[in-house]
Amino acid sequence: MSLSGGDAGAGKGLLVAECFGPTFQGEGPSAGQQSLFVRFSRCNLHCPGCDTPQTWDWSRFNPREVSTRHSIEDLAAWVMARTPRLVVVTGGEPLLQQSQLVGLVQLLSGRRMEVETNGTVVPQPELIESVAAFNVSPKLEAFAGPRDRRIVPEALSAFAACGRARFKFVVREAAQLDEVASLVKRFSLPEVWIMPEGTSSEAVLGGMRGLADEVLERGWNLTPRLHTLLWEDERGR
Ligand code: SF4
Repeated sequence: MSLSGGDAGAGKGLLVAECFGPTFQGEGPSAGQQSLFVRFSRCNLHCPGCDTPQTWDWSRFNPREVSTRHSIEDLAAWVMARTPRLVVVTGGEPLLQQSQLVGLVQLLSGRRMEVETNGTVVPQPELIESVAAFNVSPKLEAFAGPRDRRIVPEALSAFAACGRARFKFVVREAAQLDEVASLVKRFSLPEVWIMPEGTSSEAVLGGMRGLADEVLERGWNLTPRLHTLLWEDERGR
């Protein structure tokens, strides 16, 4: 990231873990598209399988070293200095800072803005109107633990009804697809994508092969983790 720094603990602005790109969007309906990524710091879930613990796990990371506060104008300037039209806002959980996020998305109205979220925070109407798409990834029990924090019915229902959400589930094995089906049915989730868990190309490819037939049968979509197939677990790719 080449933005100038700031103090994670003071002032207005967005708390950011990293900005990177151009690279390829690795997951979901936009996989393969040239993209820029803005990764917000902070998360309201503490998933044991999280691959970005530097956004929230202060038992392992110092927040002052792994997050920086930036104005929306500085972030917009970083994006505008680069060519990819798709901008992916990810985390952590970006909707924990959604008032400021609305400002950023509106400043970048010439770009296609996709927001990746765990689906536990109700999106504001201004955010729904401004983004091109939400990539909502509700967490399953084996990945994130008990239901009370990871499934927020009011938030999932709002995303399902907003007309701009696609739902991506990280799945370890085919046996977990019944849990996905029950969430899809309960919240009438449209556009379902299944993605294998894994931080190595071997695990991702093996996971896709193990899931493909049943995902087809259920009428859902399958996505790789393209960045993992290409660059394994390298950060900032
Ligand atoms: S919701 Fe996402 S970013 Fe937050 S802890 Fe879980 S996997 Fe990590």
